[in-house]
Amino acid sequence: MVFTDIIEKKKNGQKLTKEELDFFIDGYVKGVIPDYQVSALLMAIVLKGMDDEETAALTTAMLNSGPRMDLSGIKGFKVDKHSTGGVGDDTTLLVAPLVAACGCKVAKMSGRGLGFTGGTLDKLESIPGFNVFLDNETFVKNVSKVGLAIMGQTQDLVPADKKLYALRDVTGTVQSLPLIASSIMSKKIAMGTDAVVLDVKTGNGALMPALKDSIKLADIMVRIGKATGLKTTAVVTDMNQPLGNCIGNALSVEEAIHVLRDNIECDIKTISLTLAAKMLILGGICESDSEAMMMLEEKLASGQALVKLAQMIKTQGGDPAVVDDTSILPHAKEQIPVCADSAGYVSEIITRDVGSAASLLGAGRMTKEDVIDPAVGIVIKKRLGDYVEKGEELAIFHVNDKKNFEEAVAKFKKAYTISKDQPDELPLIYTVIED
Ligand code: URA
Repeated sequence: MVFTDIIEKKKNGQKLTKEELDFFIDGYVKGVIPDYQVSALLMAIVLKGMDDEETAALTTAMLNSGPRMDLSGIKGFKVDKHSTGGVGDDTTLLVAPLVAACGCKVAKMSGRGLGFTGGTLDKLESIPGFNVFLDNETFVKNVSKVGLAIMGQTQDLVPADKKLYALRDVTGTVQSLPLIASSIMSKKIAMGTDAVVLDVKTGNGALMPALKDSIKLADIMVRIGKATGLKTTAVVTDMNQPLGNCIGNALSVEEAIHVLRDNIECDIKTISLTLAAKMLILGGICESDSEAMMMLEEKLASGQALVKLAQMIKTQGGDPAVVDDTSILPHAKEQIPVCADSAGYVSEIITRDVGSAASLLGAGRMTKEDVIDPAVGIVIKKRLGDYVEKGEELAIFHVNDKKNFEEAVAKFKKAYTISKDQPDELPLIYTVIED
């Protein structure tokens, strides 16, 4: 096969065969096909798309580029959860202990934040001593013993995705339904769980902002799951404002603990319970959403979910006392209010710019090499639809280094639109796609 023929074919909008996709992935992972040729093919895929059969074949080719995790040592139903990424999204820290408290085994690999999005690993590492670098054996042991474990992605899990994602990141080829679907699903299948629940974000802080694209992405991933024997449910949820009020790492952990401990009603709780309920249904623990919701509410109210979180923290080397005393977490030197320049209703929040403002303070990475500060970030005080007086706090910035402070404030203020009319309320959950 000649790789330029494959590029030409996709450039002309033709369908690629399984053999061509295998040739592409195999050649790229082995270093036989260079980055510049793969970049051309990726751009052709972005522009011309792929049908379901091609997307499934690409997923399988990527999956076969490395070994799968061996979770056979874990008894019981093993379930995973994945979010397509957003701002102030702490759901894993709630969902994993909640589901484990109900008797499902939660085996999860998480990622790090990049650009405007946060990452669960960075959040967990803000807990003193917490170790995300587990080998397969320790991971299996921890999930068996505690019911849940969260680790960083191993080097050899889907090596094709690692290489391709790095290239997509610098060639403007991240936003493509087949490329995102194959990237996520190859890793989820390689993870080796029995089921996965996907939280597919939609809105101005999501990877695919348009609702119709988010639904399409959710639908493709559910169908890939079905075709490969991984039970998959996707929930399409709103990302037109940060999900939680805390954007940062220690701040997000603190918020998650607060919701678990004090059982407060908020958007993160609603979405976490919805995702957790779908995991319990896939796991056969519950038959209906209402039954699952009752069980989850009980695990929250009784404190059993919080106990599970503490057990996971302890087993992974962290200080479990953090669930009772969040002052153990790192805190920034200064807390500086950022106030509204005019009065009115918050009618729009450009979520990705709020995430970028937090990154400018040091809470996230602009490039993969950046070192994050676990203590800093933003606590928002006004959400969509809230009324704000001129001079009233929109947010509190938690700051250690003032280097980019002014730029962060300007970005944050520009992200907020304040109008005289109250905006319509947006749904929190748009749709659920089940196989
Ligand atoms: N997350 C992934 O794992 N892959 C993508 O392509 C996009 C988001």
